[in-house]
Amino acid sequence: MADARIESSAPGPSPSTPINPLLPSLPEIQTIESPGAPSQSDSAGSPQTSNVVVDPLGLEEPLPKRRKFEANSQINEKLEQRLGGILCCAVCLDLPKIAVYQCQMGHLMCAACFTHLLADGRLRDQAATCPNCRVEISKSTASRNLAVEKAVSELPSDCQFCGKEFPCKSLERHEQVECEERPTNCKYIRIGCQWKGPIHEAQEHEGMCSHPKKSGAEVMAALQARDMEFEEEKKFYGTLIDLLSYEKIIFNDLQMKPYRTDEYVQKLFYETARFTAFNHQWVVKARINNSQRDPHQSTEREITYQLILKTKTSCPLNIHYFALKGPFSDMKLTTKIYKHDFTDSENMSEYNHLPLPDSSECNRLLASKAINFRLIMFLLSK
Ligand SMILES: [Zn+2]
Ligand SMILES: [Zn+2]
Ligand SMILES: [Zn+2]
Ligand SMILES: [Zn+2]
Repeated sequence: MADARIESSAPGPSPSTPINPLLPSLPEIQTIESPGAPSQSDSAGSPQTSNVVVDPLGLEEPLPKRRKFEANSQINEKLEQRLGGILCCAVCLDLPKIAVYQCQMGHLMCAACFTHLLADGRLRDQAATCPNCRVEISKSTASRNLAVEKAVSELPSDCQFCGKEFPCKSLERHEQVECEERPTNCKYIRIGCQWKGPIHEAQEHEGMCSHPKKSGAEVMAALQARDMEFEEEKKFYGTLIDLLSYEKIIFNDLQMKPYRTDEYVQKLFYETARFTAFNHQWVVKARINNSQRDPHQSTEREITYQLILKTKTSCPLNIHYFALKGPFSDMKLTTKIYKHDFTDSENMSEYNHLPLPDSSECNRLLASKAINFRLIMFLLSK
């Protein structure tokens, strides 16, 4: 009975896209003040860029004067530092942690900045371009650079907690399980202790922590707050189980494609093709930042979606629905159940959140050609 219609099996973008919530708004970019953006001989690139940098490989590109001075002072720097300056992302200047992409001219970008550029291009309805040389970039023209990825994984990077240097490839493990300065909570957090500190101080704190000595009455408030969280969760699963016992349940695997409104300032929206559920025709529409005027200028991005009934109905349709990632998508989506009573005059639900974890996941969806998801609908029969 499942009305699973598969419109495309096109998978989402590379699952290796890192999440970088701190990613700054990308500049419109002519110049990037990089201490060492990737040095290339941009024969085809626009010459006005001033981010042409130190050229340790001896390519004969003329250096701007200021850079020449810096180049001299860099000779004494350690090889790792110089390489770090060369292999860093040309946009955020960080050493890419996972994937490294490059434009056709060889300029390097970390995966987060690459998706951000593609997402901005989508929002502006313009082809995304390399911030260095302005050549067009897309998933098909840009390529990974495995040699740089491997080289970066050998370079040292600073631990965000203790500041010591570690090779990139062992930094994650160090920050997660080894670093003595990594932050942790008091083990009595369940009974209300709010202490937070570096892990090497935790034992001493827990030895003196006043919470285990408190009376039952004193820790009740903390326990009640925790109970409330569990209650919320229980309620959610209760609702879900109730819905699953409805007589009429349908799921559709859908694909939303990008379109533009025909207003003066055209806005990006997404829409699915019509699909059938409960003998009616439906579409799903989605928009970015609730149709904010210039969403590409905002680093905070969200997607909201709306379910629309396209055919006439003689009686109200009491529908619960929610989106799941489904089999053709790797989007990170939590579950939020929405409901709407569809009638001829109320044939559109509100725009509700597509519950994504953060803006970078939203950028990742914007960067891909289409958004695939599964929509489950439950009809309460009277
Ligand atoms: Zn970057
Ligand atoms: Zn480029
Ligand atoms: Zn550390
Ligand atoms: Zn404590």
